[in-house]
Amino acid sequence: MSDTSSLPFLPFALPEIGEEEIAEVVDALRSGWVTTGPKTRRFEADFSAFLAGESGHAQEFHSIAINSATAGLHLALEALGIGPGDEVITTTHTFTASAEVARYLGADVKLVDIDPATLCIDPAAFEAAITPRTKAVVPVHYAGLAADMPRIGAIARRHGIRVVEDAAHALPTTCGGRLVGTLDSDVTVFSFYANKTMTTGEGGMLVTRDAAIAARAQVMRLHGINRDAFDRFTAKVPSWYYEIVAPGFKYNLTDIAAALGIHQLRRVRDFQVRRQQLADLYDRLLADLPVICPPRPAGGDLHAWHLYVIRLTDDAAIGRDALIEALYAAGIGCSVHYIPLHLHPYWRERYGLRSEDFPHSQRAYERMLSLPLYTRMTDADVFRVADSLRAALRG
Ligand SMILES: *Cc1c(COP(=O)(O)O)cnc(C)c1O
Repeated sequence: MSDTSSLPFLPFALPEIGEEEIAEVVDALRSGWVTTGPKTRRFEADFSAFLAGESGHAQEFHSIAINSATAGLHLALEALGIGPGDEVITTTHTFTASAEVARYLGADVKLVDIDPATLCIDPAAFEAAITPRTKAVVPVHYAGLAADMPRIGAIARRHGIRVVEDAAHALPTTCGGRLVGTLDSDVTVFSFYANKTMTTGEGGMLVTRDAAIAARAQVMRLHGINRDAFDRFTAKVPSWYYEIVAPGFKYNLTDIAAALGIHQLRRVRDFQVRRQQLADLYDRLLADLPVICPPRPAGGDLHAWHLYVIRLTDDAAIGRDALIEALYAAGIGCSVHYIPLHLHPYWRERYGLRSEDFPHSQRAYERMLSLPLYTRMTDADVFRVADSLRAALRG
């Protein structure tokens, strides 16, 4: 093993921003139009075209750009009419954004356990948690692997429950050969946060086929402003006129951010290919270590590889926390996805949650760490991480 002590720190995540993105941002700045405008509209149209793919039916999709996925999840539940007295089911093994948006609307959250093989929401646990108050389910495509959407969709349809996919990790991910964003759910929300598979700094995209949901989300994205509400029988709408139809939010994406998104989206397939190569290399290098490598999709489906999450087996000589410290000492950044929601004071205390009720998430959490995985990594970086892991695990 080579001496790694003099190597620079390898961060956990880094965005890949190219000259085209930079030129487009500069163009936005020079244009004088820096907030939501032509570049945002182009980004939305490009996103719908991306989802439509070879079918070319981009008009089937409404893509609404927002300033975060959290905003998109909030808009989605709001458009579905979720409110006080309602319940929204999601996985405990996620970021708090998946759940907190239901609380914004005064609805309650029911957290359920994961399938220990996929680390995505367990469809049986989802079904068992349904009550007459349940209005929506928010599956998360954990790490970039699709949740079991055929089963989740079937259960939801049987009980009249709406489906909002938290696809923050899932661009591009396929499920049964179809891109996430084109499945049969009501709404899908993507994140373009700095560490996601493509980035606009902060940003997101809400996608739906439902024209009514799209119209409501569009209005609520910007202060509840509706320009179509003007009485068309009296006159043409003057350019200065608008009507406020609801107490809306301030969730619009800027053209500066959309400028990044336009070019990131063009590269997102290539990004996935590179992430896949890095994940494959990790799998190969870690094969003889006491770790469980990430689950693979069935039937040739696409994994977006937002995260590469390993779990220590019981025969590992060192615990998770000590391992992260050892890697950090070797100049390697790691993370944990996630501290399950049932362990956070707000969720635990509000709903009286106990770890015993989420055995699979709890067990995975105690043994898991996320290794660096991003397109700017070299193969040598992966070898370095694997070498350091091996050294730490040998004690
Ligand atoms: C990143 C993330 C979000 C929130 O995305 P933002 O764009 O930062 O609001 C939501 N859910 C999951 C699972 C995430 O990883």
